[in-house]
Amino acid sequence: MARLNSHARDLDRFWKGRILWDSPMSQFSTLKVGGPAEAIIGVSNTQELNSLIRWLKNHGIGWLIVGRGSNILVPDSGIAGVVIILEGDFRSIEKLMDSTTPQKKEKVLIRAGAGCLLPKLVNYCTLQSLSGLEFGVGIPGSIGGAIVMNAGAWGYEIGSLVDKVLLMDSNGDIFPEQGRNLGFFYRKWSMPPNMVLLSATFSLTPGSIDEIKATCRKYKELRQKNQPVAELSAGSFFKNPVADSAGRLIEKAGLKGLSIGGAKISEKHANFIVNTGKASAADILNLMQVVQQKVYKRFGIKLEPEVHILGGV
Ligand SMILES: Cc1cc2nc3c(=O)[nH]c(=O)nc-3n(C[C@H](O)[C@H](O)[C@H](O)COP(=O)(O)OP(=O)(O)OC[C@H]3O[C@@H](n4cnc5c(N)ncnc54)[C@H](O)[C@@H]3O)c2cc1C
Repeated sequence: MARLNSHARDLDRFWKGRILWDSPMSQFSTLKVGGPAEAIIGVSNTQELNSLIRWLKNHGIGWLIVGRGSNILVPDSGIAGVVIILEGDFRSIEKLMDSTTPQKKEKVLIRAGAGCLLPKLVNYCTLQSLSGLEFGVGIPGSIGGAIVMNAGAWGYEIGSLVDKVLLMDSNGDIFPEQGRNLGFFYRKWSMPPNMVLLSATFSLTPGSIDEIKATCRKYKELRQKNQPVAELSAGSFFKNPVADSAGRLIEKAGLKGLSIGGAKISEKHANFIVNTGKASAADILNLMQVVQQKVYKRFGIKLEPEVHILGGV
């Protein structure tokens, strides 16, 4: 990202809302590490976002969106440019009219803003007796982050439920897109960098509230049993290699419990790198590299981080 440098004062004059200057990104990351972003700005609606993105483009300043920070690792050196957080209207949920197309007769469409928490949407859908998103219980991300990552669990992925989305490109232009055109793959979508997800409409199936609640309970219990949910992490750190599991490889390489500084391979699930309290981003990055080297040496497999490493490392 380009640095703000001499434009800081202009930005201060232009933006009517609050700007957090040189504020640590650790507060916006579930790993609780990361140096300062030059500026952090919360935007409340599409108009505000449009004017901010246009202004930043005109001044050649880099920017990126951060959701709930549950899949990012910010280096200790921090982030140049502006970090944008979607708030206000971006956190809404709305039930649209039931779909009337013959193929989708049975479906109900729910639209959620990109800044809405996925567990909040799961809860809303449960109360509406709508099934499909139960796997999202315990995934602490926003709808924007979940779609960009094609978040999934227990054999389900969010991409398969997306009917359509509203996007904003790097010029600030807004356009709708069909879910099937977003190019969902394992833990990613295929849209260009700096494409912002504004909202998504999900196609869900009416079901029994008791069964939906029971499924959510089951997934919650499985997480509590198998994952270090009470510790600071970004969820699964590495992507699973084809037909294998990163956790299995890390465990077989004897790395469970290994720590560097305050970063540790969880004893409960080997694909979780946890911050035991005082980790730096460098501790986590060093541990990540040790895991990659050892797993490669033992199995010839290069583990790729699922976590997005932001800024210049
Ligand atoms: C305890 C725990 C358990 C987890 N379990 C799972 C799991 O089971 N399955 C799973 O898939 N993930 C899991 N995760 C990872 C994470 O929660 C998901 O990937 C989540 O969807 C990320 O959402 P976020 O809002 O936190 O994204 P962030 O971490 O804030 O951002 C992730 C990426 O998305 C981009 N982004 C965010 N919002 C937008 C937007 N509106 N437009 C464009 N780009 C955007 C960011 O720039 C960044 O590149 C887990 C994490 C934790 C901490």
